[in-house]
Amino acid sequence: MKKGIAFIVVLGMLLCGCSAGQNNNQTSKTEISVQSQVSEESSEESKEESKLPEPESRDVFAMDTYMVLKAYGNNAKKVLEDAENEIHRLESLFSVKLRDSDISKINSTSGNPVTVNISTRTAIEKAIEIGKMTDGALDITVYPLVREWGFTTGDSDNEPSYKIPDQWLIDWHLGNVGYDRVHLDGNIVTLPTDFEIDLGALAKGYATDAVIQMLDENGIDSALINLGGNVYALGRKPDNKKWTVGIQNPVDKDKMICSLSVENQAVITSGNYERFFEADGKKYWHIIDPKTGYPADNGIISATVIGSSGLDCDALSTALFVMGTEKAIEFCKNHKEIDAVLVTKDMKIYVTDNLTKSITMEDGLTYEEIKR
Ligand code: AMP
Ligand code: MG
Repeated sequence: MKKGIAFIVVLGMLLCGCSAGQNNNQTSKTEISVQSQVSEESSEESKEESKLPEPESRDVFAMDTYMVLKAYGNNAKKVLEDAENEIHRLESLFSVKLRDSDISKINSTSGNPVTVNISTRTAIEKAIEIGKMTDGALDITVYPLVREWGFTTGDSDNEPSYKIPDQWLIDWHLGNVGYDRVHLDGNIVTLPTDFEIDLGALAKGYATDAVIQMLDENGIDSALINLGGNVYALGRKPDNKKWTVGIQNPVDKDKMICSLSVENQAVITSGNYERFFEADGKKYWHIIDPKTGYPADNGIISATVIGSSGLDCDALSTALFVMGTEKAIEFCKNHKEIDAVLVTKDMKIYVTDNLTKSITMEDGLTYEEIKR
């Protein structure tokens, strides 16, 4: 790792780990909830760095994770306050736990039409689109299985109770999975009976874009926001240098595998270390393969997607994780508009060609380029 790198969101991330670490007493052992890390420049630049003005900063707890919003500009304080309210508004629509959320209404009355907020509709529309694009690797109707494994995004009333479900239950729920069965007509959503959905794979990405749009509309042109590891770098730092965002080493939470130099981009990771439990010496994580009903175990342990839309990056990082090594590489080859960093179980790192100029690997690590 470069000497002198300072993690500016370490506190947020540690807190994140604590919050998600409420283990049940059946099978869970460890749980960490950290994704991308955000770092400042190396020591050579730290003197200059210290001359930078202090950004306005706001810590937020929402969507079951700690978030840190940092922005530069005269009105940054007020805009970040509004951004926090927007995040809470989106949580109140998307949560699977809050009884009055749009998603809870849809899930509790499956079989019947439910009128939802435009934000909910937009997120569901995107989920269906990416479900199609990824051949069902992203499938928001996988929720009953996510819950069965105990991976509902917990709240204080309902802590996670991880368990390996009986096979008959998995089979039964698999019968009620299929993103293409979600019916959207304007703002009216109808699910088949016994179906349930969860926007967990893309909610933070949606919120990322909403916050960035708000900052942008209010004249903020330099900001770094981190919604529980979903990072977006708006513009450049006040010294006109690009932001540096690190990607966490999936097998060593205190280290990074690489850092990326970014501007007006989201960097969003799905990893098997974010939320998991161990039972009988095996690790089970929160991203479910809609084809098997089991945690997706197709070779990838961390998938990061980099791009201008947080929503797309969030949805796609989950999908690439589910697809596994071969399919994810193939997908990247066929979608030049997508940039990704994939880490496999045997610690091979694949990086799409557009990133080669902006990536710095940690000492001793190399990558294979995905050429397009
Ligand atoms: P992420 O951390 O963005 O990859 O999202 C993982 C979350 O998405 C999980 O906690 C579940 O709530 C949900 N989820 C798990 N597997 C899938 C899947 N295959 N498709 C859509 N959502 C999923
Ligand atoms: Mg995601």
